[in-house]
Amino acid sequence: RSKSDGRSQFCFFEAKMQETFLENFLIENQLRNALTNNDFYLLYQPVIGSKNGKITGVEALIRFDIEGVIQRPDIFIPVAEKSRLIIDIGRWVITESVKQLSIWQIAQTATLTMSINLSSIQLTDEGLIDYIKSTLITHNVLPSQIEFELTETALLVEQENSAKVIENISKLGCKISLDDFGTGFSSISHLHRFPINTVKIDKSLMPSALAKDNTKPFLTGLVVMIQSLDLGIVAEGIETEVDFNLCINLGVDKMQGYYFDKPLNVSEIESNYL
Ligand code: C2E
Ligand code: MG
Ligand code: MG
Ligand code: MG
Repeated sequence: RSKSDGRSQFCFFEAKMQETFLENFLIENQLRNALTNNDFYLLYQPVIGSKNGKITGVEALIRFDIEGVIQRPDIFIPVAEKSRLIIDIGRWVITESVKQLSIWQIAQTATLTMSINLSSIQLTDEGLIDYIKSTLITHNVLPSQIEFELTETALLVEQENSAKVIENISKLGCKISLDDFGTGFSSISHLHRFPINTVKIDKSLMPSALAKDNTKPFLTGLVVMIQSLDLGIVAEGIETEVDFNLCINLGVDKMQGYYFDKPLNVSEIESNYL
């Protein structure tokens, strides 16, 4: 190896870093514009009850378009978090989804649950609890109809304060669910220490997501553990009949995935489900 090899490698990484930096800078600006111009919108993915196959609620999933191309939250949410724009974006999500639920509950006799994803950064928003409270009052929605989804990593960040905020959300009467369970630590102590109502098992644990089905015992073990703690279970990423049948056999309460429907817009939800 010559010296110049090492140098060109260094330059490569430096260029890559600069590229990422510029990319994030670009995305951050797009997010600011989307906030100002009210370009964000929500899609709603049905959550289906295992007992009767009926819709029990929806999960709100954020989107915005640039020149007709849908921007994916897996890309822009991390940028929104780093820039703390997620606090304003997240407040917008809360208002928009609660407003939508209040419209649906006027037309609908069955009560639907609105699931809202919450970033760990939002737990540092000191006005969050009051914001949630006043939004619910304004739109005449019961706290028990709202479920906030947090990931295990969110529980680990800034532990003490997040624990307090999560507890206060729970005291308001809103539900807390642990999202993407089975991807991170999957620690039983998190289920014990936080006021969690429901666990959402990550889509990567479904048979359809696996090359071999040798993690079926893992999925089974997780489900049994969660059930023994008397927590609700939602299985994510149900894509096939195999996924569906396995979850039914394991006694999972609710399911979500492309097997039923992808995230839908308001009028699709209304014509297909309400
Ligand atoms: P998540 O909360 O775990 O949401 C589930 C993701 O899985 C969604 O991706 C959904 O479209 C996708 N999905 C649903 N069914 C299936 C399936 O059968 N197969 C597969 N392969 N995927 C399925 P999406 O909408 O791209 O969102 C990605 C992530 O971005 C979410 O994961 C969530 O962590 C985050 N996110 C989305 N909206 C918001 C938001 O309003 N606020 C915050 N903080 N995060 C959000
Ligand atoms: Mg979620
Ligand atoms: Mg998830
Ligand atoms: Mg996720």
